[in-house]
Amino acid sequence: LVEFQHVSKEFAGNTAVNNLNLTIQNGELFVLVGPSGSGKTTTLKMINSLEKPTGGTILFDNKELASYNILKLRWKIGYVLQQIALFPNMSVAQNIALIPELQHQFKSKSDRINLVNNLLTSVDLDPKTYANRMPSELSGGEQQRIGILRAFACEPQVVLMDEAFSALDPISRTQLQNLVLKMHTETKTTIVFVTHDMNEAMKLGDRIGVMDNGILQQVGSPTDIAQNPANELVSELFANSG
Ligand code: ATP
Repeated sequence: LVEFQHVSKEFAGNTAVNNLNLTIQNGELFVLVGPSGSGKTTTLKMINSLEKPTGGTILFDNKELASYNILKLRWKIGYVLQQIALFPNMSVAQNIALIPELQHQFKSKSDRINLVNNLLTSVDLDPKTYANRMPSELSGGEQQRIGILRAFACEPQVVLMDEAFSALDPISRTQLQNLVLKMHTETKTTIVFVTHDMNEAMKLGDRIGVMDNGILQQVGSPTDIAQNPANELVSELFANSG
């Protein structure tokens, strides 16, 4: 679905991503893992064109990413960040339904209510209690759950998640990891998940890409990476993951 061909990104002489060659398959949950500053976020942002490569080509759905209308491209792509980014002046229901509404996906008011109710129920939030709450009336974990629902609500082709759970307590974090696995199994949506946490990568990834210093060091299944680390950097990341 997303193909990086010799992609590089430089910021004022600093190479954030160096000659990246990687294909993310349709329907997979791909985790990019690596230490701080290794180029994970920059790679992710190039997928929704928040950053543009300084070298190489990116294909999205077999078509050059640069040739897409950016707004239309972003409608195909859900985005979940560590800093929860719900619209503070909109209710939970309005946040979830916003993008499908802009895309004219609802034929009637009941379509909209059904979508919101089904999504809230799927994450064990009672619509009667939660649909009309404002983001400020939710816990951090609840807000992030709504953020995930919102990303999936417009049936995107791919959902990008950047350190989405790093700010949460361990219990919320585990619940949300399980939610991502559940959404992935149910919707088969392609997910690209960025984390610095190897344990999280091992738990979530169908495949994992390990980055360090702008360079993709290894790509493989969790078992591949655990059993045959490509180099010392990869084994060290493992050893330090506890
Ligand atoms: P983290 O886990 O800390 O978010 P990361 O692996 O996601 O790190 P990136 O955010 O992609 O890494 O950053 C890679 C490199 O590019 C870093 O050296 C960073 O300082 C640099 N960089 C990122 N964005 C910019 C920018 N807008 N301008 C200049 N340099 C940048």
